[in-house]
Amino acid sequence: MSWLTEYVRPKLRSLLQRDIPDNLWTNCESCSQMLLIRDLERNMKVCPHCGHHMRATAHERMAWTFDGGNYTPIELPPMPVDPLGFRDSKKYTDRLKAARAKTELDDAMLVAHGTIGGMQAVVAVMAFEFLAGTMGAALGEAFLAACRLAILQKAPLIIFTASGGARMQEGIISLMQMPRTTIGVQMLREAKLPYIVVFTNPTTGGVSASFAMLGDIHIAEPNALIAFAGPRVIKDTVREELPEGFQRSEYLCEHGMVDIVAKRQELPPLLRRLISLLSPTEPDHAASELVSTVMGKKSDTKQQQSQATA
Ligand SMILES: [Zn+2]
Repeated sequence: MSWLTEYVRPKLRSLLQRDIPDNLWTNCESCSQMLLIRDLERNMKVCPHCGHHMRATAHERMAWTFDGGNYTPIELPPMPVDPLGFRDSKKYTDRLKAARAKTELDDAMLVAHGTIGGMQAVVAVMAFEFLAGTMGAALGEAFLAACRLAILQKAPLIIFTASGGARMQEGIISLMQMPRTTIGVQMLREAKLPYIVVFTNPTTGGVSASFAMLGDIHIAEPNALIAFAGPRVIKDTVREELPEGFQRSEYLCEHGMVDIVAKRQELPPLLRRLISLLSPTEPDHAASELVSTVMGKKSDTKQQQSQATA
């Protein structure tokens, strides 16, 4: 035994065998580049190499949207679980239980309130991580709760959509949420409150065919799939080659279904600006300051004029 084998070798071994957590790195789904998860999260889950927007959780969206990441989620009304006693390869109740345990959400929508740019706002986020963001009775009720809260607070409603469509396990009840949520949008309209929709990848089926397409302003993250029936179904039906970028944000913006395509990092300032422009109760602070400065100058000049005449 030498100093080398007794001291240096174990030291080296312990250095080499130090536990390295295997969840530090991930690969970009689009360009396959290795990315440090910490850096990716700091970059709002947008690949710094190719700009691909990765899926975000409902709580991440909320934190990115509200001032200082502070928001208050509201308790959503309880709904009857599994109204049809549905079972496919698994019981619907078991699928719900598993989704609730995985996401710590009650259903596929999270509703919260807080301030955006100092102005009161209500935000609803669809959680794709909860059964693919599918719309059942609970989601319809959550959307209506968000509309009612916005009306109560005289605040704008912003919704981030992400959905695979209607929840087939609830059959006709899931389809009934389309007119129900449409009534919610109408309630906002009657209260003259802004309703802003931010489409994220993917927004499809009954969600895109109801409240998602009824916004006062439609914003979409780059390259998000926004469709009723997906491109594969359409291609098989019409038996024709579909145009490039069909049903993606940029294509829909060119064709008038989407107003603005905005990168994720651009969303917080854009939402602040839009709320400030659209909210009748909360004027643009910068604009009102400008107006008061101009008015102040005018009244100063008037005073000077009156003094001069006196
Ligand atoms: Zn990438």
